[in-house]
Amino acid sequence: MLHLLEQTPEQLQAWFIGQGLPGYRAAQVRQWLFTRRARDFNQMTDLPQSVRNRLADEFRIWTTRIVTHRKSDDGTEKLLLELSAHERIECVLLGDDRHHRTICISTQVGCSMGCAFCASGLDGAARNLTAGEIIEQMLRLDRLLTEDERLSHIGVMGMGEPLGNLDRLLPALAAAASPDGLGISARRITISTVGLPGAIRRLANENCQYHLAVSLHAADDRLRDELVAANRGVGIQSILAAADYYFDLTGRRVTFECVLLAGVNDRVEDARRLVRLLSGRPALVNVIPYNPVADLPFRTPTPAAVARFVEIRAQGALNANIRHRKGDRIDAACGQLRRREG
Ligand code: SF4
Repeated sequence: MLHLLEQTPEQLQAWFIGQGLPGYRAAQVRQWLFTRRARDFNQMTDLPQSVRNRLADEFRIWTTRIVTHRKSDDGTEKLLLELSAHERIECVLLGDDRHHRTICISTQVGCSMGCAFCASGLDGAARNLTAGEIIEQMLRLDRLLTEDERLSHIGVMGMGEPLGNLDRLLPALAAAASPDGLGISARRITISTVGLPGAIRRLANENCQYHLAVSLHAADDRLRDELVAANRGVGIQSILAAADYYFDLTGRRVTFECVLLAGVNDRVEDARRLVRLLSGRPALVNVIPYNPVADLPFRTPTPAAVARFVEIRAQGALNANIRHRKGDRIDAACGQLRRREG
């Protein structure tokens, strides 16, 4: 059976025509999937029953199974999805407000980037997700909303390195941004990367207007090599050069993210180094106090250390925000629920 969400609009139309059916049926099916929130073919009531049966014989809509669905007091909801016997991924619906419904999705099973503080990377990467599996996370989360709510933002910052799976991510995001898909503006879609210079340049050349966030975590290669294994042999300067290229081609200001770890990268000298590194760039810096992971030695910085860090950046004329953690009680930090539920 084929995964329906893996089909591009053109492929689906070709399938209908190949069956001797009108090509416009493809648009009806996509509307049921992306706008009308159908859960199965039988709900697609403007298709003749015979067509629904043929679709059901050939395609399946869902390839994942919901293993766990957790809800936090702040409205954050997290799904643990099983793809096959031992493959599990996470995706999250943030509890912002009725007008802003943000989701966070995964792009790989596990991750090979080797961030020392991250639960997702502890077992390495098993494989890339398909475009259909990436879209399926969006639609599963979309179906958690009330009837009058719509998804407004997507963060590609769940499990995996998005730019390590660009060939499948791009068609998935095209479906999210398309008017006949989820209709989410490309400017409201953020791709968060550890920093793969070649892939950043490729994304810039696509000029899709997605927002790019680079997870820097450290302002010098010595510390960054320790915190992010993928930095070794790459280096911060080549990542910054690629980020500058992204800004030059797209006009989109790049965000640099820094997960703050107590006593590791939250000191005054760390903040000053970051100011020196990024000064002169039209960059925004997101500071994310660490969300502790069982079995890992890192700790959350004190509120005072976080405030001091942001203050130093502000003095250095860097725009800095603190991104507050959501859903702590449901293991919302990337990869934690998957580890806990084994
Ligand atoms: S923080 Fe992101 S890039 Fe780093 S290991 Fe975890 S999932 Fe991979």
